[in-house]
Amino acid sequence: MTALLEARGLARDFRVAAGTLRAVRGVDLAVARGESLGLVGESGCGKSTLGRMLAGLLPPTAGLARFAGAPLPPPGSPAWRAQRAQLQFVAQDPLGSLNPRLPICLQVAEGPAAHGRARRLRDAIPAALAMLARVGLDAGLAARVPHQLSGGQRQRVAIARALALRPEAVVLDEPVSALDVSVGAGIIRLLAELRGEFGLTTVFISHDLRVVRHVADRVAVMYAGRVVEEAPAARLYAAPVHPYARALLAALPSLDPGASRAAPPALEGEPASPLAPPPGCAFHPRCPLALPDCAREAPAPRQVAPGHRAACHLVPA
Ligand code: SF4
Repeated sequence: MTALLEARGLARDFRVAAGTLRAVRGVDLAVARGESLGLVGESGCGKSTLGRMLAGLLPPTAGLARFAGAPLPPPGSPAWRAQRAQLQFVAQDPLGSLNPRLPICLQVAEGPAAHGRARRLRDAIPAALAMLARVGLDAGLAARVPHQLSGGQRQRVAIARALALRPEAVVLDEPVSALDVSVGAGIIRLLAELRGEFGLTTVFISHDLRVVRHVADRVAVMYAGRVVEEAPAARLYAAPVHPYARALLAALPSLDPGASRAAPPALEGEPASPLAPPPGCAFHPRCPLALPDCAREAPAPRQVAPGHRAACHLVPA
């Protein structure tokens, strides 16, 4: 399959008062057309920064992000504005991205109008109402502004607004993590339907591996700004290789009612600081299997099986 979204050596630093925050440190990824990639890891591992770069919202410090084979244009440029119709982003908190004063049907209509899909804003309203209905919001809500809606309804508006442009790809950053479990489950089901219906390519970012299990064809696990393991979802959940991915998965509650209720081994220690990532393998201070070389030499990604790679010295070369 052809890659629609690609990252090559993608890195992003931020200058902060305490020094340089190295959020993403050289990521290679490819998301095939029609595929759903889950991007997982603890808070602060760089997954949201990577997602924003893949969505073209943040320029990299180094490396390159490509969409349909072409480098992503600089944010704010005319080429970037034109590309918004093909590549969309849904944020965790829709209140931060929706206009607080504009009725939601106009917010869904304004993208297609701005991209010339309708002559005037009012001409785009029937399609906006149809899109709101498609994401489960009835016409009685169309004139409301965001704060008159629940969190789940606002996230449905954000999804409707992204899909109104009929994009090829959508990057979703923790789209259900601020919602109740049952509300989030409804959004996950909706996204699964829409992905098939619209032929979408998606990058689904979450700290919750239980959520990603339902939406991803393939999963990339991040730690300290790097992808440490990447595999087809079924394979990653059944046979993770990297000690960090194994620890994250071991912490998930068992679905087997007969399984032991004893608490799983906790992932010990604090996540690596992006201000001063440990040398060598950044996971070595927390890794129960660390070797003397792990603190000196960063492991390169190695192939475990076709489509499955992990960056760990324990993976045979
Ligand atoms: Fe653990 Fe070493 Fe593998 Fe890092 S490279 S995960 S420290 S065994």
